[in-house]
Amino acid sequence: MLRLPGLIDPHVHMREPGAAHKEDWDSGTQAALAGGSTILLAMPNTTPPVTDSTTLDLALDCARAKARCDYAQFLGAGPDNPTSAAELAPRATGLKMYLDQTFGPLRLDDMTLWMEHFDHWPTHLPIVAHAEGRSIAAVILLAQLFDRPVHIAHVARREEILLIRAAKEKGLKVTCEVAPHHLFLCAADLSGGRGEVRPRLAAPEDQQALWDNLDIIDCFATDHAPHTAAEKDGPNPPPGFPGLETALPLLLTAVYEGRLSLEDVLMRCHTNPRCIFGLPEQPDTWIEIDPDAPWTITAAQTFTRCAWTPFEGRPVRGKVTRVVLRGQVAYEHGKILAPAGFGRDVRSNSTQKPNPNLNQL
Ligand SMILES: [Zn+2]
Repeated sequence: MLRLPGLIDPHVHMREPGAAHKEDWDSGTQAALAGGSTILLAMPNTTPPVTDSTTLDLALDCARAKARCDYAQFLGAGPDNPTSAAELAPRATGLKMYLDQTFGPLRLDDMTLWMEHFDHWPTHLPIVAHAEGRSIAAVILLAQLFDRPVHIAHVARREEILLIRAAKEKGLKVTCEVAPHHLFLCAADLSGGRGEVRPRLAAPEDQQALWDNLDIIDCFATDHAPHTAAEKDGPNPPPGFPGLETALPLLLTAVYEGRLSLEDVLMRCHTNPRCIFGLPEQPDTWIEIDPDAPWTITAAQTFTRCAWTPFEGRPVRGKVTRVVLRGQVAYEHGKILAPAGFGRDVRSNSTQKPNPNLNQL
């Protein structure tokens, strides 16, 4: 048995409000605990999207009533809210800007809108960009023009990781995350609707480039984006994979195989997300794992409501056996013990500030 700090997943889609049949704050936080996460950061592309005080209240009310692990909520950058979003910043974990094709209506195409958000959003709070390919170059430039850090979500391709390496080597304030599905799956591994995800699964050369440039990947983030199996197998399959319960076993398997160290995992699943997003310590909180336990991933054993996994049938090593959250046993041997509503908003009453020297990571 190994005792580790509670993991922090900085990129999760809860689907509530608006699509609780895919996931809600109850089922999603159960999946988080089962996967060893004690804090998750929720994305704003719900229905309605979280872009103002009314929708932020709506999302946080759902969370307060149902969450079983701790959490914070992102605000979405829209065409009309650069000023009002900035006023709400202290209640959010960061601003999410969708600059490329995604699920939901929040995409921003006009770079003058990017500039307005960069101008208004408080410099000490994070901006996370869904940017792919050349959009990454553009958003890194804007961040420098406005002298502030930017965090690039789910980097998936060789050209992207090499660009971020070059930016970091110049001392630019950019951090990034990679999703396990881009580390452990290629485009050829899944077909049809089940393979739909943004950014798309890439070529083996892209996957290898992520492993070759591990030193500049700041975080592993699941981008847990659940849709039901029926939706994925239907005529208009929406993009997104569930990932909360499979991320740590996949990473521990890479540790078992010698491709990662346990320190590599903890740095990217705990230390760096805490620093980048300025998250508070969780007292009396830890997870216990059996690092070598062999088992096979199957959707039938998961807590996520979406009831499928892109890793079905994959043999892995490493299991979460127990999660202790603020002194309470929240998960033990396959059972969720934290009640709905036990989770806390880590942004309320938090005075901790994100690290202004993000390029030092
Ligand atoms: Zn996402």
